[in-house]
Amino acid sequence: MMARRVSFLYPTGDTIVAQATASGRAAVAMVRLSGPGVGTLLRGAVVPWRGESVRRLWLAEYRAEGEGVLDQVVAVYFKAPRSYTGEDVAELTCHGSPVIVDRLIRDCVARGARLAEPGEFTFRAFLNGKMDLCQAEAVRELVESQTWGQAIGAQRALRGSLKGRLEAVREKVVDVLVELESRIEFANEDLPVVEACELSVALEQVERELGGWIESYEKARLIREGVRVVLAGRPNVGKSSLFNRLLDEERAIVTSVPGTTRDCLREWVDFGGIRVCLIDTAGVRSTWEDVERLGVERAEREIEEADLVLFILDASLPAGSEDERGWRLIEDRPHVVVVNKIDKGWEEGQPPWVCELRDRAVKVSARTGEGIEKLKEIVSGLAVPGGPQEVESPAVTSLRQSVCVEHALDAVRTGRVGLRGGVSEEYVAEVLRGALSALGELVGETTSDEILRGIFSKFCIGK
Ligand code: GDP
Repeated sequence: MMARRVSFLYPTGDTIVAQATASGRAAVAMVRLSGPGVGTLLRGAVVPWRGESVRRLWLAEYRAEGEGVLDQVVAVYFKAPRSYTGEDVAELTCHGSPVIVDRLIRDCVARGARLAEPGEFTFRAFLNGKMDLCQAEAVRELVESQTWGQAIGAQRALRGSLKGRLEAVREKVVDVLVELESRIEFANEDLPVVEACELSVALEQVERELGGWIESYEKARLIREGVRVVLAGRPNVGKSSLFNRLLDEERAIVTSVPGTTRDCLREWVDFGGIRVCLIDTAGVRSTWEDVERLGVERAEREIEEADLVLFILDASLPAGSEDERGWRLIEDRPHVVVVNKIDKGWEEGQPPWVCELRDRAVKVSARTGEGIEKLKEIVSGLAVPGGPQEVESPAVTSLRQSVCVEHALDAVRTGRVGLRGGVSEEYVAEVLRGALSALGELVGETTSDEILRGIFSKFCIGK
């Protein structure tokens, strides 16, 4: 891979040092150094220094300047460019006492190293072409992964699963661009020209591929971040009771006075391997009571952001205008109609819109627990059809990456529509150059320092 252009984000060319293992007491700790000065710097400290036998572990003493032996260390030395960062790298494993680690790092600094910034090792790896930006992001995802699924996804991304697919897409766009540019250049000559139709077919393929990346990112998002499920319905239909039932605990306060849940409560639960964030909203109804109105606004916002809304009706009472208002708010969103309190029997005097919903509603009783398991199954099935194992590993794994792909997709689409509509070749070529630049940004070739800072500053120190 090509090394990236020089960045002014962090100073390069000096030698950095940091503890790579977690801080605190442990059996061992590892201190990592990277930069052109590593060999010279450690020659006097690590005794014996065996820098010539690269990639081999050796046992040595670490001798601090003016202090004598600090600790026994296991050292390993990687010579540039065959190291994590692409520079000379040493890793010293010492006993895991914070005092020793602190002294050892201070001594490295006294000998000319600088304390590394968060993510600076990975940043250097990226600068030196050891990995692209997507892989650098995968390193962080892997370190931070909390579920096995997240770890697997990050490992795939780290192995560079995007690279090949990206190159194929770029090639197609470049081919079209080359054709357009030669038409522009040789406009007056009689060269065989590839039909506009053929070019737009190639762009259509690119659109399909990029569209697929965005779609798979969206699907995987539900696994990665969990599914937001909002319980909505007028006060007293039993939202809080249902919330507790679904959580198997008494989390929300349940009373028979309408409007007691004035804020939104949220809890994470596991429905069949899917992480679900359950959100209990304040009743959706118009009210002039200030505190409650705030709660209602919040509820409406939650509903707008939800992946799925459980719209709850009371089986034992005829639905009123508040229920209907709530229904109109959510009917066009992904939802499940839940009829609660079936232990109290079905009220026959329901308005027609409720009668229409009755057949497809899930009937439950928060009081007795009837229908609750079925409701859980329906929620997880709707959120992630087929369960977590069915979700293919996405090509792009972060919002940043997905936004770059969206920009590229927009540009390619604009280009194709332009070609079909007969707009000037110069214009289409310009638009397609924009698509290539968005794809370059995706892997970090043309990414601004500001964005890079945003990415690398989220790393832990020592990575
Ligand atoms: P919310 O205002 O929608 O959150 O409703 P709550 O959960 O506070 O419940 C309102 C009232 O309905 C309380 O007195 C609950 O005990 C009662 N309730 C909730 N679910 C059921 C149910 O399935 N059956 C019966 N019989 N009562 C219920």
